Amino acid sequence: MPRKLAAGNWKMNGQRANLVELQKLEDKHGDAGVDILICPPATLISGCEDTPFDIGGQDCHVNQSGAHTGDVSADMLADAGASYVLTGHSERRTDHGETDAIVAAKSQAAYDAGLIAVICIGETLAEREGGTTLSVIDTQLAGSIPAAATAENTVIAYEPVWAIGTGKVPTLDQIGEVHAHIRKQLADRFDDADEMRILYGGSVKGSNAADIFGVPHVDGALVGGASLKADDFSPIISALEQA
Ligand code: PEP
Repeated sequence: MPRKLAAGNWKMNGQRANLVELQKLEDKHGDAGVDILICPPATLISGCEDTPFDIGGQDCHVNQSGAHTGDVSADMLADAGASYVLTGHSERRTDHGETDAIVAAKSQAAYDAGLIAVICIGETLAEREGGTTLSVIDTQLAGSIPAAATAENTVIAYEPVWAIGTGKVPTLDQIGEVHAHIRKQLADRFDDADEMRILYGGSVKGSNAADIFGVPHVDGALVGGASLKADDFSPIISALEQA
């Protein structure tokens, strides 16, 4: 069984004062039985050095250095104290036109810097309603995951775009169908696919986490809004510990 992972994505939220939330989380889950990852804004990564939790970037450039004003490289994230980085989050794909090829290049850059890539995929509402969810997932998996992926350096996050930040959540059957499909697709390419963690993301809250974590092939969650406050993230972590 893959080791479970509760990952929080703070997105473009948080200033130094908000790091107190990590202390509150440590008080409750300092020796949690699951992995805990926090992805704060890049400005806060070096300020997280005392936390026991894993720290991740939310994006990285495909290159390790160079004339790319405003960008951050995977090497820089590692140097600041990160051990993970999100790649291909739907907000990056939408806001910055990131293609599967770019996501694969960023994930490879993460591996080269010694980071674990959390590669995000997921269908839009139109794709879900058009019945193309699984073929969209297939295309994203094939195009976004580098050949060098292993269970050690890669986590997959299935995040239906229409569920992110909306309060809408797929049915447990829908989540189960996609996660089982992802596991099968990974097994076709990677020898250690059984150990590769597959997270669900999209409006996970304390009230729905236990049900979601009961779905086969759900190895944890990528959480946005409910990861900002320790009081909101804690019940999700507790549900994962009990799953
Ligand atoms: C996310 O940002 O990846 C996410 C899942 O957000 P939320 O939990 O707010 O839907």
